[in-house]
Amino acid sequence: MDFINLKAQYAAYKTEIDAAIAKVLNSAQFIMGDEVDALETALANYAGAKYAISCSSGTDALLIALMALDVKEGDEVITAPFTFAATIEAIALCGAKIVFADVKNGDANIDPAAIERAISPKTKAIIPVSLYGNCADFDPINAIAGKYGVAVIEDGCQSFGASYKGAKSGALSLIGATSFFPSKPLGCYGDGGAIFTSDDALADAFARIRNHGQGERYEHARIGLNGRLDALQAAILRVKLAHFDDELRRRRDLAARYDEAFSDLNRIRYDQNSAIAQYTIRLRERERVALDLKTRGVPTAIHYPKPLHLQSAYAHLGYKRGDFPVAEALANEVLSLPFSAFLTAQEQDQVISAVKAVCL
Ligand SMILES: *Cc1c(COP(=O)(O)O)cnc(C)c1O
Repeated sequence: MDFINLKAQYAAYKTEIDAAIAKVLNSAQFIMGDEVDALETALANYAGAKYAISCSSGTDALLIALMALDVKEGDEVITAPFTFAATIEAIALCGAKIVFADVKNGDANIDPAAIERAISPKTKAIIPVSLYGNCADFDPINAIAGKYGVAVIEDGCQSFGASYKGAKSGALSLIGATSFFPSKPLGCYGDGGAIFTSDDALADAFARIRNHGQGERYEHARIGLNGRLDALQAAILRVKLAHFDDELRRRRDLAARYDEAFSDLNRIRYDQNSAIAQYTIRLRERERVALDLKTRGVPTAIHYPKPLHLQSAYAHLGYKRGDFPVAEALANEVLSLPFSAFLTAQEQDQVISAVKAVCL
């Protein structure tokens, strides 16, 4: 069985996807153009934000957001130490200082009380990560940001489709960033991402930064990037977006079935508002369990084995083991099980009986 069954997904939409690709090839409009415009409109409508600006990856979505806010050397940005490295790369690439605030047990997302303790006069932005498809707790986070006058950028790279108190990921704070990496809840067939906002000036800045800082062609009013999304990826995403709510329903049904089977296991908490990017349990004997599952034909993955404050590239920040105990415990214990909208009932039964045999 596959950890994420992308082949079954392509087989399910093959006719539509092949036609969408052929249309782009025949048009020879490979960069920007109608497909990209149509996708951006569809994404903004889906998320409930005024604007969606597509871009080359989730990493670039975060970087473009920080560049548009003019985050630079001397500024501080608060985020979680338990996330994928891209979250903090974007901060480091702007020259700003990364300040960590620990996450919570339960959903593994950043603790709003820890954010408030980490605020300083230099804080320019907060990047809550909606990890595993679970939205971070945006009401208290936005309230803290309002109190201290700092911006909030949601790292929604794993949570496109999730919702929080009736609003969708991407539209939960001033800016939302997402990724269309193939294994994310909504994935393309390469790299891709998007930035959401309802602020006119920020949307204009995002659009310019992702295209070399240009408004008018060859007029470079600001420093930008080659951060555009390919028309081919936009066309593929438009097909997949039309099926996305069906996939989300399927993901939520499958997760509910895992929840029921694993009620005696320590696990990340999901609800029916989550996009459930990964289905993740927590175990003290993780390495042995992962090996035993492998011999029973069940692949697993670890998201993520080492928290970011202990990574050597960020040693200069001066953090040490023990600084973020919840992040450290999660990094030692998490194990993600096979999961996608195309996991079959038979495969799920196989996972459930293998996990029960090995852990319970
Ligand atoms: C995947 C991911 C990113 C980066 O997205 P890419 O499209 O791979 O650049 C950033 N943050 C988190 C939490 C992610 O899971």
